[in-house]
Amino acid sequence: MSDKLLVIGETRDGSLRNVTFEAIAAAKKINADGEIVGVICGDDDLESQANEMIHFGADRVVTVKHDNLKTYTSEGYGQAVLAVMNEESPDGIVMGHTAIGKDLTPKLASKLEIGLISDATEIEADGDKVVFTRPIYSGKAFEKKIVTDDVTFATIRPNNIPALDRDESRTGDITAMDVDVTDIRTVIKEVIRKASEGVDLSEAKVIVSGGRGVKSADGFKPLHELADLLGGAVGASRGACDAEYCDYSLQIGQTGKVVTPDLYIACGISGAIQHLAGMSNSKVIVAINKDPEANIFNVADYGVVGDIFEVIPLLIEEIKKMKE
Ligand code: FAD
Repeated sequence: MSDKLLVIGETRDGSLRNVTFEAIAAAKKINADGEIVGVICGDDDLESQANEMIHFGADRVVTVKHDNLKTYTSEGYGQAVLAVMNEESPDGIVMGHTAIGKDLTPKLASKLEIGLISDATEIEADGDKVVFTRPIYSGKAFEKKIVTDDVTFATIRPNNIPALDRDESRTGDITAMDVDVTDIRTVIKEVIRKASEGVDLSEAKVIVSGGRGVKSADGFKPLHELADLLGGAVGASRGACDAEYCDYSLQIGQTGKVVTPDLYIACGISGAIQHLAGMSNSKVIVAINKDPEANIFNVADYGVVGDIFEVIPLLIEEIKKMKE
């Protein structure tokens, strides 16, 4: 059983992403009695983020501060985390199955010649083994991987393993480690964010998603209003992105983002298999479509056969009333 696990923290706009806290909870599931060491990389003051990891369950945190760690690069973070690994000799790593997690963990696992369990949605310790559940065949089935080794490398799908309650009374050591992060061939000159600001799509608890049935970029406005009211984010089908109603960064599906919100509202989306691959594991799916035969109704928990331009304003009105 892994005695010491590293959890690699991920930040967005200077704050830790929720999946970091979920990864700490996942590490606790792998070994409730083991030590959980958070790792934070960046170019700024990392102490408040380190403390936040401790409040969410990390026993202690190692920070690596370097100008070359301002934005994520494979080489930069790879060097920093490898240096921490050499120092700490952990029995494993847990982090989010995010764009960064998908890039960094296979690189580390292959360097150390260790297998990686990616995209876990459930983790259960069972005596001296740990059972990981992960989706396969684009979410159409789930497989269970049983790990009996001492070494565990895993990424977890956001929104599946609940974070522990934040406890501000928790304390732990924060150690700053000097790492010479030099061998960087990738130069990030500028980060241009295409999606709208606000709730991060891959971590959103509520997603209001539009398809070709939304008919125009303007047609997305009520979807944004509904998403704002519900504290959620707006997503899209590839049909809507191809038609230039919205940016590709909103695309959900096989070739877009994979999401697992508590509530997914599909508006004017037919439910092509490639779209379902990105959202069918959402906890509750509501579909609004004027075609009663649309495939989306086969995965929906609640279906509304109707015109989105009539149904969405009604929904907005009712939610506003409830909020009054
Ligand atoms: P459509 O299939 O055109 O459906 C529009 C729906 O809107 C219809 O069901 C219609 O009844 C309904 N509608 C129209 N007007 C209204 C109205 N006023 N009110 C209510 N309903 C209305 N797709 C993805 O989404 N994500 C992916 O990642 C993805 N990857 C792909 C990868 C590959 C290799 C391939 C080949 C395809 C991929 N696709 C992906 C495309 C996918 O096959 C579909 O073409 C796409 O999902 C269709 O988008 P849509 O449902 O918005 O459009």
